[in-house]
Amino acid sequence: MLISGITARRVAVPLREPFVISLGVIDSADVVLVEIETDDGITGHGEGAATPFVTGETSETVLGAIELFKPAFIGQSPFAIEHLHQEMDRILVGNGSAKAALDIALYDIMAKVAGVPLYRFLGGVENEVETDMTIGLDDPAKMASKAARLVAEGYRQIKVKAGSDDGHDRLAIELIRAAAPKAHLKVDANQGWTVAQALKMLNHYAGFGVDAVEQPVPAWDVDGLELVRAGSPIPIMADESCFIPHDASRIVRAQAADVINIKLMKCGGIYPALQINAIAEAAGVKCMVGCMLESRLSISAGAHLVAARPNIIYADLDSFADFDDSSIIESAFELDPPMIKLSEMPGLGVTLA
Ligand code: MG
Repeated sequence: MLISGITARRVAVPLREPFVISLGVIDSADVVLVEIETDDGITGHGEGAATPFVTGETSETVLGAIELFKPAFIGQSPFAIEHLHQEMDRILVGNGSAKAALDIALYDIMAKVAGVPLYRFLGGVENEVETDMTIGLDDPAKMASKAARLVAEGYRQIKVKAGSDDGHDRLAIELIRAAAPKAHLKVDANQGWTVAQALKMLNHYAGFGVDAVEQPVPAWDVDGLELVRAGSPIPIMADESCFIPHDASRIVRAQAADVINIKLMKCGGIYPALQINAIAEAAGVKCMVGCMLESRLSISAGAHLVAARPNIIYADLDSFADFDDSSIIESAFELDPPMIKLSEMPGLGVTLA
């Protein structure tokens, strides 16, 4: 069984609510959908969601990278996952979203050939994953009312964006805690603090029962992350500081994080994500699987991964809630808040519209 063709296309996925910023109104986000065909008729689906300010990619670069990778794939076995990742890394450094799109499609094929859902192909037995939901930066009262709405919908874990203004962040967590007294809260500072500022804010968050704080300092500052973790009353999570397995190795050796946030679009797909989780697990560090602005296609890949690895204790797989992706996907998983229930169909369980 050999790979006979690869097609990639850019698709605009409408957002449920237009996202208004000072420059204008965003009412859709682009993803790149990939199909890998094989000579015996099995097709795999993948998705790359470019986030320029995180991975340096755009939809155009994802399409361009896939074109560059194509000759290494055509005529190769879809089971040659190690070889194909080595080839992609040899051809282009970085470009995690383009690599993830192809990697996800390969795993879809491999699990389809095995005749099992992907979580079983990866060694798991559970087909349900609990996800959190994220509250973006907004007026603190609006953030609190969103927290109350999420709890009413059934969600038990809420991730709160922070890192813009300390006064705003302090008020937001107070109002959110009052609106959602029993919710598990995580805070994501998205690199917004200095070490000194982070330590002050972490002490404040400890008073509100926050479970973990994500990426308090800039991505490049692993030394700073180590200092923050050493002085923090709350577990620290690395996100933008950890893209690929080498980053995970550096972070665990520096004892700079309690949890690593793996994203398929940062690391290049399920294969390197498994390596990151293995490095973390061997060092006593837990993982989360997070996401970019992804449709249910790659969200389902992330959920299968979480379902297959008990060391991945958190799922932040919520971007589908902002999308109306019904124009591109007919079925993937079922959502019964807070649980994502994976399909029992072989592979990812994704049917395109
Ligand atoms: Mg984050």
